[in-house]
This record gives sequence, structure tokens and C-alpha cells, in this order.
Amino acid sequence: MEEYKHFIHEIIDEELKEGGRCYGQKVHTRFPPEPNGYLHIGHAKALEIDFGTAEKYGGLCNLRMDDTNPTKEDEEYVDAIKEDIHWLGHDWDDRFFYASDYFDKMYEYAVELIKKGLAYVCELTPEQMKDMRGDTTTPAQSPFRDRPIEESLDLFERMKNGEFEDGKLTLRAKIDLASGNFNMRDPVIYRINRIPHHRQGNKWCIYPMYDFAHPIEDALEGITHSLCSLEFEAHRPLYDWVINNVSVPCKPRQIEFARLGITHTVLSKRKLRNLVESGLVAGWDDPRMPTLCGLRRRGYTPESIRAFHARNGVSKVNAVVDFAFLEYCLREDLNTNAQRVMGVVHPVKLILDNYPEGKSETFEVENNPEKPETGKREITFSRELWIEAEDFMEVPEKKYFRLFPGNEVRLKSAYVVKCVGCDKDADGNVIAVHATFDEESRGGNTADGRKIKSTIHWVDAATALDAEIRLYDRLFTVEAPDLADCNYLDFINPDSLEIVKGAKVEASLKNAKPEDRFQFLRLGYFCADNKDFTSDNLVFNRAVSLKDSYKPGN
Ligand code: ATP
Ligand code: MG
Repeated sequence: MEEYKHFIHEIIDEELKEGGRCYGQKVHTRFPPEPNGYLHIGHAKALEIDFGTAEKYGGLCNLRMDDTNPTKEDEEYVDAIKEDIHWLGHDWDDRFFYASDYFDKMYEYAVELIKKGLAYVCELTPEQMKDMRGDTTTPAQSPFRDRPIEESLDLFERMKNGEFEDGKLTLRAKIDLASGNFNMRDPVIYRINRIPHHRQGNKWCIYPMYDFAHPIEDALEGITHSLCSLEFEAHRPLYDWVINNVSVPCKPRQIEFARLGITHTVLSKRKLRNLVESGLVAGWDDPRMPTLCGLRRRGYTPESIRAFHARNGVSKVNAVVDFAFLEYCLREDLNTNAQRVMGVVHPVKLILDNYPEGKSETFEVENNPEKPETGKREITFSRELWIEAEDFMEVPEKKYFRLFPGNEVRLKSAYVVKCVGCDKDADGNVIAVHATFDEESRGGNTADGRKIKSTIHWVDAATALDAEIRLYDRLFTVEAPDLADCNYLDFINPDSLEIVKGAKVEASLKNAKPEDRFQFLRLGYFCADNKDFTSDNLVFNRAVSLKDSYKPGN
């Protein structure tokens, strides 16, 4: 894959010139998802940065469940997260951790801070604390700041032992009540919360705050570079303060990068969960979801997702990327790699009046002209074929060059045929199109060199298989459905899924397997559904159309 501009790598290159960080340790990163939802395309950016940076420098990347907050976690998510990361092509070897396994250590470090006079137990309620935060010109206040060390030690232990109600007491780091950075104004580092933890059960009723917990987790794992998204930038001084004031075994460095935004979707886990729970989509892996399992089911390849992130690069400027660029990356991958097949979504019969009844012949066609090494396959041809209903018009409109009475078209790889008319039912609907074939045009070229303007796809009715085709469109009708002052649910696209039963596909698709991807000629790229596809129930999802609305450089 092409090299891309990556300011984090520039920083690491500089450090390595100076002898490397962390006492000569290898570059060591981590990916720290909170297990409260499935991973999405934005997380994939962080994954590429965390695992990609480790790979580039021959280092290591840990997978760590950031489960210090007891309210929301769920084991279902842990398994899904692991599966998605493996699917993208990354691996953490034996370095899989839970942040909650460090609760004992974190408690010890908190005690260490108290003993050093760097933390104290505060009795302000959340409301009082808010009222006493001060502003840019007035410092914050806490009447408990100068509580004797012994008293704080005793109260903190009793907090741990469950002697106080939720919210009654907090442990605060003693840093700087006048700091211009409000995160440094004696931030709360422990709070009482009597909620059982999904792994620790009822062991704890006090839980560390993220800003205290995260640097400790990193340091305990020997992380050299803690790469995170931009919203943590203003928290970095606190990260460094924690690292420098408790006796952790190493000193990781936090570097922030811009989050990925993408048009026509939402990326917050809360909003995605809401779509699932309200039944607006069929699940986290609904092919319209921007989750990795949704994109996978839709037909996205790991390569296309990685190429997308590589080309977007990494910077400090938050940007919203056009969904069409993700589609462009998929199209490019599948154009090179997908097997070509023929399938008809909205079928109508084409009867070749002069083709002998009962006769059948085969044509050899290339599996993928972009990759001749993938060989050829045989497709059958006979008197009755399926063609796309829209490839016939009894009365052609202007510039319509496909089938209409008197006109000739090429049936892809087979023969040139001339339309002679159609059959209609009592309501006037076309039920069959009639044509004659030109025997001398076998393979698709006329013997006398006369030009044929259009080529259409077809399948042999004698051997065609029935299939269900799911045509997906964007889930939201507008570019930015999650603007702060509107409700994203108002912009759901009511036509984001069209299910077509009774489509006809060529017989070779009998051998397709779930997740196989194909180019259906003239129609787009399709993927055998990874849940519902079986050899007796062919279900294909349209991953992306052939048409390209995206031009690189726009
Ligand atoms: P949400 O706000 O939707 O719950 P999150 O950021 O809390 O998402 P985490 O599970 O904490 O989700 O994310 C794990 C990692 O992925 C974090 O390091 C986070 O910075 C990163 N990440 C999440 N969303 C994006 C995004 N859109 N672009 C880049 N990185 C992201
Ligand atoms: Mg988070």
C-alpha cells in the first residue's frame, strides 16, 4: 500500500533519531475501545493508526478493553470487537487486557498521591463543585483542599469500603485551582458509584475517572505512544501530571489526531445503538450501518477500508470525508479483484424466435478481464433468456439504443439479436420480448462489420437460478444528519433498502459462498450475504454501483 503522510510517524522518527523513547523500548501502542458498542469506520481509523504505527516500527500494539466505567459494558461487544479487528487484518497476539484488571493498582496509586499531599477527599456535591469551578479570571475553590493527609487516607479507605452513598465524596487531585486549563483545577479522580462491574462484580463501589485511569493503564502496559483522538488534547497536561506523580514503570507520551467524520451517516455509538434498538436497521451488522460488521456484510473488503484510511492520511484537523470516497475505494478494489458474472435484477423473458427449441450451447467467458490468471468459465445459452426489463422499450425514447422493434443489440459474449416485438398481458404489461438472432455473430461481432450500439446482459432461462437481491442506498438523506441542533432520526432515508425477490442469476453462482464478491455486469458490485446466503437461497447485497459519482481531487 502507498506510503502516506502521517505526522505521528514524523514525531516518532525524530524521537528515534534522539535515541528512542522510554529507555530504548520498542514502539508500543494500544487500541483502547470501550466495550459498549460495535466498532465503526471511525474506530478503523484509530486501529490503522495504532496497529499501523506499531507495524511500521517493528513494535507492538495491545488490545485493551477500556472498561473502567461500570455502567455500560457488555461481553457481546468484546467478542465482536475482537472479530472486527482480526477481519481488518490486525492482531494483538497475547496482549489482550481489561483496564478493570488494574483497579487494585489504580487504588494504590491514588493512595500514593494522597500520601504525597497530591490528592484529597472532597465533600462538595457535584452541583457545589460546579458552582465553585470559577471562571477564566476566578480560580476554583474547595474548602477541603487542605484536609490533613491522614484524614484523606482514612476517608478514601472508607469510600472504598462502601461507607458512603453515591456522590457523597470524591477524591480529587491537588493540582492548580487557578489553572487556565479547567481539567487541571483539582480534577476528580475517583467517585463513588454503587454499580456492579461486568467483570469485577461488587468488589468495587469506587471507580477511577478516565483521565486518571488511562495514563496508568498505558504505563502499566509499557505503552510508549498513547495515540488518541483530538478531544483529549486539553487533557494531556493531566495525563502527563499523573504519569509524573505516581510511581508508574514507564512514561508514555500522548499524541492526538483528528477524528474521522463521514457524510450521510452518524458515528456516535450511542446513536448507532439507538438505530439498532429502535428497529430502524436490522442490527449492528445491517449493511447500511457504518460499523465494520455492517460494511463487511455489505461487501466491503478490509483492503478497501485500509486504503480509504491510508489515503485520508492522519492530521490534527478534524475533517468530514465524503461517503462517496469510501465507495470509490471499494470500487477500485473490486474492479481489480471481483469475479464478473451476469445476473438480472428485474427480469423479463427474451425469446429468440429463430433459435431451435431444445438446443443449448455454451460460451467461454473470462472470470475477470483485469486478472486473466483467474481463467474462464462456461455459461449456457438457449432459446429463452432473461434480460433486464428496462432493456426493452416498445416505443423508444430519444437516444434509447437498446431493444425496441427493429433494433439490434449485442447479448454480451453471445450473439447479436434483432427485436421483432413483444407479448403483453391483458393490462398491457410486457411479458415477453421477441427477437431473432444472427447466427453469424457468434461471440458478439457481426460478420459484415455493421456497428451495434448497445450491449446488454442476460442469463439463460434454462439454467438460471432465482436470487434475492438487496439494493441498498444511504441510510440518511442529508450529508450531516447529526448536526447539534437537529434530530438525526428526522433524516432517515425511507428508501435505503429495496428487496427484489425473483431476480435471475447465472448458474455458476450456485457455488458462491457467503461473503464472495462479484461484479454483476452493468449493475454493480454485489456480495453474497454472510447471514442469509445458502446454495438454496441465494441472497446478494449490492455493495456499490458501478457508476462513480466521486472524482479524486474534488
Ligand atoms: P463514541 O463517542 O461513539 O462512544 P468513543 O470515542 O467513545 O466513541 P471508544 O470505544 O472510546 O469510542 O473508541 C476507541 C478509540 O477509537 C479511541 O481511541 C477513540 O479516540 C477512537 N475513535 C473513536 N471514534 C473515532 C473517529 N470517528 N475517528 C477516529 N478515531 C476514533
Ligand atoms: Mg471513548
